Amino acid sequence: MNDFAGNTCPCFSFRIKALARWTPRVRYNVCMEPHPHIDAHVHILPAWRLAGLMRWIHCAFPAHPVPEDIDRAHIESDLAAGRARLFFNLVYPLRPRETHRLNAFNFKLTQDLPHCAGWGSLHPENTDKAAATHRCIHEYGFLGMKFHPFVQEFSITDPAMHPVYDTLCALRRPLFLHTGFDEFYKMNMPPEQIAELARRWPDMPIILSHMMFPRMRETLDLMDAHPQLIGDLTNVPGSIRWRAGLNGKSFGDMPETQLLRRRLPGFADRLIYGSDHPAGMGGYADIYADFHALNLSRDLAQAILWRNPLALVHKYLPGRWRAASAAGYETDF
Ligand SMILES: [Zn+2]
Repeated sequence: MNDFAGNTCPCFSFRIKALARWTPRVRYNVCMEPHPHIDAHVHILPAWRLAGLMRWIHCAFPAHPVPEDIDRAHIESDLAAGRARLFFNLVYPLRPRETHRLNAFNFKLTQDLPHCAGWGSLHPENTDKAAATHRCIHEYGFLGMKFHPFVQEFSITDPAMHPVYDTLCALRRPLFLHTGFDEFYKMNMPPEQIAELARRWPDMPIILSHMMFPRMRETLDLMDAHPQLIGDLTNVPGSIRWRAGLNGKSFGDMPETQLLRRRLPGFADRLIYGSDHPAGMGGYADIYADFHALNLSRDLAQAILWRNPLALVHKYLPGRWRAASAAGYETDF
């Protein structure tokens, strides 16, 4: 699942019992996703962080199909085989001293891989967050800043984080925020806290990763109220599939599926989707098969899988993906 990368296994027995019932829908394999797409949520990490992430994944999800010893080259080849033409790479430090190394790693990655767009991060205990944020945007050329408040253990309304929001807002750059799975993480991020950020920093777009799953109705209501909110559907279809399995229901009969089918068209230009690879809800093929199981219209799927993430890059890093855009992959849907 998403984003936990501690070096010690944080699993609790109740989680293991519940999660042991989760099984991937198809075997791990190269992707059968038929359409080229932009994967808006990938975690290529330095080896020292990737090992911890995969140890945790296999502890929490014993049946997880992604190999525990996956490395950077393997992730890149999965993305290529899965027809991810372009992707966003997300990092975030678990300790204050990791910040510089991780951002430098992500910068180097974006230098090596022109089809990657990076996001910066910092640790809530780092000092001079405004300068670090400026550096991420201006020196490293990142799109914005990514945080995982549950894993990084901070409240998004903590005044210590205000310099980050002040800087992003002044630069009109986005905040990419893990939201949702509160029960799993035994943490809480009330929707009101997100509304507070949106009200106080109106020029800072906020990407709500995982749509506060399972509180998607509240997420969509928040998006209704605050036009700068963007929904990241990563892990949402996979989580619905998992719940459907636990409840003996079909994916299409789940109220969550019906809610998304009904309301997502109203946010066609404010939604993105990605794999969370290598820590997503299954192998690469599973993740895109789950997305297509939502049965959204062709145009809406194109918007989510291609036009919207491309528009973010065009807006904040004009020119970076011009060649890809000119190639017109979207017409291949
Ligand atoms: Zn993630």
